[in-house]
Amino acid sequence: MFEDKETKTEISSIGEFKLIDKITESFKITNTSTIKGIGDDCAVLSYPNKKILISTDMLIEGTHFDMSYTPLRHLGYKSAVVNFSDVYAMNGKPKQIVVSLAISSRYSIEAIQEIYNGIALACKNYGVDLVGGDTTSSLSGLCISVTVIGEANLNQIAYRSGARFNDLICVSGNLGASYMGLLVLEREKKTWAANPNFQPDLTGYEYVIQRFLKPEARFDIIDILRAKDIVPTSMIDISDGLASELHHICKESNKGCNIYEDKIPIDPQTMLTADEFKISPVTAAMNGGEDYELLFTIKQDDYEKLKDIPQISFIGHITDNPSALYLITKDSKAIEIKAQGWDSFRDNQ
Ligand code: ADP
Ligand code: MG
Repeated sequence: MFEDKETKTEISSIGEFKLIDKITESFKITNTSTIKGIGDDCAVLSYPNKKILISTDMLIEGTHFDMSYTPLRHLGYKSAVVNFSDVYAMNGKPKQIVVSLAISSRYSIEAIQEIYNGIALACKNYGVDLVGGDTTSSLSGLCISVTVIGEANLNQIAYRSGARFNDLICVSGNLGASYMGLLVLEREKKTWAANPNFQPDLTGYEYVIQRFLKPEARFDIIDILRAKDIVPTSMIDISDGLASELHHICKESNKGCNIYEDKIPIDPQTMLTADEFKISPVTAAMNGGEDYELLFTIKQDDYEKLKDIPQISFIGHITDNPSALYLITKDSKAIEIKAQGWDSFRDNQ
């Protein structure tokens, strides 16, 4: 659906080493914890007084992204940002990434360069250094694996397991938009498949599509929490939908929760798009996923410090009844929250 770049130079014309040089040459090291970046057998990092956080994510063409509507620059950006989000979800700060690529011969040098332009922008926006990776060929499709290294002080790390009875459940930003963006793109793809001359008109869906193709990670929330001297009792990022993430926190903390339908933050464009697709926006928020917002719990005493922060919504509280997770609807019915996280091994994808 999105048009390819004009020039296409085969990777075999320059070889692996020149390709690595080309795509990594514009990256500069900015963090003092990076002693040595790209160019040796290992990167060298220094974290004398901090705890180190590590996480990794792999994205496979056809499983995690669809090349017909994913601009390569956005793919690079997103593959980095979803990793940063995991570090923020521990109340830490990402500092380095390593990126491994398996590339099929369908991809040109220009295409790989576009992915790295996206990675470079993400690194710049979030203050992260690219310090290494691996480049190899793949028989079918593209695979990107990103590993992030971050830092936190021991007493600041927020685990999934720390939620306590009566803690308030908080969420950043708004939920469900990314899923609606995906539905719009899938719909346009179907129309386009039936008629290749069709030009998708995405006017009116810009926000939801952007949330899907170019998500951001919530470093601002981490900064606000530090400024207010709050360590969340538990935290997780919302990659699989609110329902699934609540289950993770409650299971790890051995608690339950009540959340309130009318408190779930949903953007107006998400509401309109959900109406059009005849699905409930709350379902999109609960089961959609890929929002990359932060879900966290705080002590009741910390409420005063956060209550006027517009980026944070208070959606419910933690209860003492393990595995009893309820959504209280607008008409005061309690509906059990089922864990319906996105699962790449389910066959009905
Ligand atoms: P080795 O043979 O030791 O694996 P490589 O030739 O694969 O070394 O890599 C050379 C340097 O380039 C290393 O610093 C490595 O981390 C870096 N590098 C390789 N591929 C990538 C990539 N796709 N993105 C970023 N850095 C890379
Ligand atoms: Mg290598």
